[in-house]
Amino acid sequence: MTVIHNLGFPRMGIQRELKRALEAYWASQVSQQELLDTGKALRARHWDLQSKAGLDTVPVGDFAWYDQILEWSTLLGAVPARFGQAENAPVSLDTLFRMARGRAPSGRAVAACEMTKWFNTNYHYIVPELAPGQGFRIAREFLFEQIEEAKALGYKVKPVIPGPLTWLWLGKGDAYEGLADVGKLALLDALLPVYEQVLARFKAQGVEWVQIDEPVLVLDLPQEWQDAFRCVYQSLNQSGLKLLLATYFDDLHENVTVLKDLPIAGVHVDAVCAPAALQAVQAVLGQDQVLSAGVISGRDIWRTDLEKTLQTLEPLKAALGERLWIAPSCSLLHVPVDVQSETGLDAELKSWLSFAVQKLDELKLLQGLLDGTLDEAGQQAVQAQQAALKTRRESKRTHNPAVQAQMAKINQFKRQRTPFAQRIEAQRNKLNLPAYPTTTIGSFPQTTEIRTARRDWRGGALSDAAYEKAMQAEIEQVIRFQERVGLDVLVHGEAERNDMVEYFGELLGGFAFTQNGWVQSYGSRCVKPPIIFGDVLRLAPMSVAWSSYAQSLTERPVKGMLTGPVTMLQWSFVRDDQPRADTCRQLALALRDEVLDLEQAGIRVIQLDEPAFREGLPLRHGDWQAYLDWAVDCFRLSTSAVSDETQIHTHMCYSEFNDIMPSIADMDADVITIETSRSNMLLLDAFESFEYPNHIGPGVYDIHSPNVPDKDWMVRLLGEAAKRLPADRLWVNPDCGLKTRGWAETAASLQAMVDAAKALRAAA
Ligand code: GLN
Ligand code: ZN
Repeated sequence: MTVIHNLGFPRMGIQRELKRALEAYWASQVSQQELLDTGKALRARHWDLQSKAGLDTVPVGDFAWYDQILEWSTLLGAVPARFGQAENAPVSLDTLFRMARGRAPSGRAVAACEMTKWFNTNYHYIVPELAPGQGFRIAREFLFEQIEEAKALGYKVKPVIPGPLTWLWLGKGDAYEGLADVGKLALLDALLPVYEQVLARFKAQGVEWVQIDEPVLVLDLPQEWQDAFRCVYQSLNQSGLKLLLATYFDDLHENVTVLKDLPIAGVHVDAVCAPAALQAVQAVLGQDQVLSAGVISGRDIWRTDLEKTLQTLEPLKAALGERLWIAPSCSLLHVPVDVQSETGLDAELKSWLSFAVQKLDELKLLQGLLDGTLDEAGQQAVQAQQAALKTRRESKRTHNPAVQAQMAKINQFKRQRTPFAQRIEAQRNKLNLPAYPTTTIGSFPQTTEIRTARRDWRGGALSDAAYEKAMQAEIEQVIRFQERVGLDVLVHGEAERNDMVEYFGELLGGFAFTQNGWVQSYGSRCVKPPIIFGDVLRLAPMSVAWSSYAQSLTERPVKGMLTGPVTMLQWSFVRDDQPRADTCRQLALALRDEVLDLEQAGIRVIQLDEPAFREGLPLRHGDWQAYLDWAVDCFRLSTSAVSDETQIHTHMCYSEFNDIMPSIADMDADVITIETSRSNMLLLDAFESFEYPNHIGPGVYDIHSPNVPDKDWMVRLLGEAAKRLPADRLWVNPDCGLKTRGWAETAASLQAMVDAAKALRAAA
């Protein structure tokens, strides 16, 4: 029988049990034992699900209290000095938590380790901190204990661990320049012996296969990193264990040569992101190496076309026989647990969807199809699935003639405004703003009253009229506050929004929402991405009433607030039956209509937030431009139809802008507000060396901290900015929205910020 296996399962639990247990433990509401028990129960449940689905082995090592890379760093004893780790003592769970979040029920509070996005996903890992000459040792027993746990339950275990080159690549340290720094490779001398010890322990535990994740193989790898694979795997191969080298998220491209004669037992490739990788890897495989074909998407939630996949697999099966394995494309960490728990979705839509549990069922069906061993029930399941896919292809819900008509003439829509120099004059005359104009990024504190009102209205306990009144009262309060403080461009405060993507998605056609479709973002934080299943259509104005009401209360300009097309796309599960660029263009057209309606309603400044603009970048530099081209095009599609007088803003946060500056400039927003205060304006170097042509608001107030920024400090920051950019192009604003902050600190901070702007005006 064809081997079927899984690279990793979602760890949170369908009701986010792990989240609850973690947060209760951090708040000292439950004991550590209770937390450990919850983790153990979840692992047992998830192994049970996987084994019942027919997997030959269960993955062990995919569970993590916070993040799988952090688990591995602590196992290796790679704990930065500031955490006060004793040299021979095991690393405790609380030390792991302090590394993740700076504090834990026990131990000193210290600066947490850095966290960043895992490849091109929305999952975040804790960055390993590396110091030259640092030592490693097996410093945590947790992984070995989990193997015993799974064995005791009767499962055949396949440990899953990060490969040494991927772990090193992801690590950072003061002594190292960046991810690709070859200096880090010197640490292999100390690191490999510990890997060897780990593998020896696995062997003693009766393990046969180990999955070693080396997703760096899909990146642009410098020669030294490519070369390192040989010697690393020569030494790991001595363990006598069978090593399955797992890659995912993209093609291996030229790195495929690394695999030639590499002493490993098999390779996993992501055949969903990179169908061509299957043949490329097959061509370099040795006579007894396994090819694991990741044919079921671990990144999206659509049912797999089993017949089409079978056509891909059959020739491989013929050539490789038992040496062909099949699996999801990557860990299922990136998808929700079980579509059956969705009671709010209609049956048809549900029949198009596949979450982790369904994906494993699909895998089993594929195995049966491939081996010709499908029983009656299996055959019916395949037929039902293919029928569901057919209804999806032909559905009126996915194809909307009105949207198609717009898309047919997409090239005729305007993407070009008059030159900036000309329109900024028109905007100056219309808006009449002082030098160093002040504004905010959109949201104001989301108080309990606001959340309660929203929830009551959704649940039917609050009438439409009462809800509207409650929101209007919030808007009025926010407007009056901003007038009092002396801000120049006001906002309505976004009290009506639970989430910046969900709010708009719920008002657009083509979107669906789940009840339990949680996906881990970082630590205990989960998100529930909306599902874009069909053509996106604006059914009615979405924000005009709130913005107009706010504008009716004041003479000062109120900024209309929208989420940009790229961010709407990036933070959703996107349909796979047309190019992402096309779905993004549909979003852009819907937003374009909203922009025009806002302008029509007398809104003079309109902001489209694009915090996810940079994270959409492909993993390979060679693929960047194609993405940037359509992403910029979509932003311009949304914003270029307005008159010269209407000022377009955009906002981005926590982005490394340096390498995409030309594209950001190409978006041609009149004003961009960005995060900078944490980096002491260093980020602005990028805008200096590229000479950003339009206006810029470098954030001077770090909204991720409850501290009230000092006026003089903000004056100094803006002085730094003025060294790099002409002062008459500068705006004064916080780093990001204020929704997570309290009112007291917000009021004091914004007052200090406005005072800083006034001081600069007086000094000019
Ligand atoms: N307008 C949004 C807010 O203020 C922007 C949020 C973001 O950048 N993530 O909340
Ligand atoms: Zn932001």
